[in-house]
Amino acid sequence: MHEWALAEAVIVTVHQEAEKQNIKQITKVQVRIGELQQIDLDIFKFALENIKEIYDDMFLDADVIDLEVESSALKCKVCGKEWEFRDLSHLKEDENESIHFIPETAHVFMRCPGCGTPDFEIIKGRGVWIQSIEGVL
Ligand SMILES: [Zn+2]
Repeated sequence: MHEWALAEAVIVTVHQEAEKQNIKQITKVQVRIGELQQIDLDIFKFALENIKEIYDDMFLDADVIDLEVESSALKCKVCGKEWEFRDLSHLKEDENESIHFIPETAHVFMRCPGCGTPDFEIIKGRGVWIQSIEGVL
């Protein structure tokens, strides 16, 4: 599942980064998730919980990992209108699912709410990344 693969990537990266910085115990990790990833936060948290147990006791507890969803920003290349993914409620469930797996398919399903063109760019709201790691040396 998507969430499990992402959770594993986050934990592995955090672990490697902590080792690089000689962090013995991680006290805080901030993870930001692009809205277009359409991640199920409950599943993602559950996956993080389970996967981090593989990595000994570097993580203090469950609350160490702070998840934040970044809202998306889309901009029409034709008329210049800007909008957010959540503004479009007409997408069907299977279309949402498709964007969830491949954000690029947003272009197939979405149209500019201003002029109707599919010619827009995704300014933000994609991907999952680690914003910061804090720990005890
Ligand atoms: Zn437009």
